[in-house]
Amino acid sequence: MSNQQDYDCIVVGAGIQGSFTAYHLAKNNKRTLLLEQFLLSHSRGSSHGKTRIIRKAYQHDFYTHMMEECYLLWAKLEAEANATLLSGIWEKRGRKSILANSKRSQVPTETLGPEEFSQRLPQVSLLAGEGALIDTTAWVLYANWALRAVQGGVIKDGDQVTDIQPGSTVTVTTATEVYRAESLVITAGPWANTLMAYTGLQIPLQVVKINVCYWKEKVPGTYGISSRFPCFVQLGVEGSQYHFYGLPSNEYPGLMKICYYMGSETEPNERDQQTDRTDVHLLSQFVSHYIPGLEPEPAVVESCLYMVTPDHHFVLDCHTHHNNIIIGAGFSGHGFKFGPVVGKVLCELSLGQMPSYDLSPFKIQRFQSNSKSSL
Ligand SMILES: Cc1cc2nc3c(=O)[nH]c(=O)nc-3n(C[C@H](O)[C@H](O)[C@H](O)COP(=O)(O)OP(=O)(O)OC[C@H]3O[C@@H](n4cnc5c(N)ncnc54)[C@H](O)[C@@H]3O)c2cc1C
Repeated sequence: MSNQQDYDCIVVGAGIQGSFTAYHLAKNNKRTLLLEQFLLSHSRGSSHGKTRIIRKAYQHDFYTHMMEECYLLWAKLEAEANATLLSGIWEKRGRKSILANSKRSQVPTETLGPEEFSQRLPQVSLLAGEGALIDTTAWVLYANWALRAVQGGVIKDGDQVTDIQPGSTVTVTTATEVYRAESLVITAGPWANTLMAYTGLQIPLQVVKINVCYWKEKVPGTYGISSRFPCFVQLGVEGSQYHFYGLPSNEYPGLMKICYYMGSETEPNERDQQTDRTDVHLLSQFVSHYIPGLEPEPAVVESCLYMVTPDHHFVLDCHTHHNNIIIGAGFSGHGFKFGPVVGKVLCELSLGQMPSYDLSPFKIQRFQSNSKSSL
């Protein structure tokens, strides 16, 4: 416990956000240590699994703006790793605010009325009056490959952080060592408040368990990536507060991944004791209505955790009392695609540099007024 090591920066949490932060710090020639409580790779947090949706179409232009650079940085990582991390196309049902922002931000989109939609995607049954907005920049992001590609440098896994002493040098205690660094970045996913408690900070983050459901095709190949079936986000389905989303059959042959955005509240270490299946029930109804070529009961159900803020926007900020402790948290179920730019701004904050983006939507201070928003 007495062995002290010095780093420019310590990053806690080797999910996608911490891994990209360490990647950018290393590119800046900073001595960086990435600490992870579990042995890599693991499936206890938010970043595991094979696929995520990547898109530019968003209701808020600050996300669309960040995605411009994200695509470039994902492509750079692909080239560095000599691997394919992105694939496919994506479509979603239109909502006026997303359409308006997409036009304003020049996201390449196309709108489809009901007739054109059913010609293009006869495998989906829309309800009367429904249509789609296509974001032609949207793809499938191969999450587990991406995570592996970005992880490098000094990583210590299987070593849980058990204490943080703030100061001009931050002291971080783990189960096996004591480390010191000029700055600390906390990207601990669902455990963010546990880590921040050591520094006297708490923010309103709700940890939810998502049942990740895979649905069997009645006719193999109908919804496969080879048949160019798109990713989708379905907004405003009657009787549900949040959206449904899906990706073409990919991780398990003949099974399509379709999930509900919101799950049930849990503690991060008690995920498997949360057995509520309200989301699975809503999904069964959704699948029967809209995607009749799938069996209406999931063939595989896996678990994943999100950490949701009251307004569903991220936290990217310095600690309210300690400028050299940086927080990246509350990615609210839509943060993976932003990893390259999240890592970049967390790196900039930890180096005391002016961040490349206006981070005012992501300040900790906003929780003093409890505003609600959507993605
Ligand atoms: C089912 C599901 C579907 C999703 N779909 C999409 C999508 O389509 N598109 C998209 O962009 N995003 C999506 N997301 C969201 C995205 O995956 C998350 O926003 C992102 O993975 C968050 O990464 P993170 O690094 O913040 O957290 P995590 O991946 O949870 O990483 C945090 C890490 O910190 C470690 N840690 C915690 N405490 C300690 C400690 N004391 N000491 C050391 N290490 C510690 C944890 O073990 C963990 O590895 C989805 C998420 C889920 C669950």
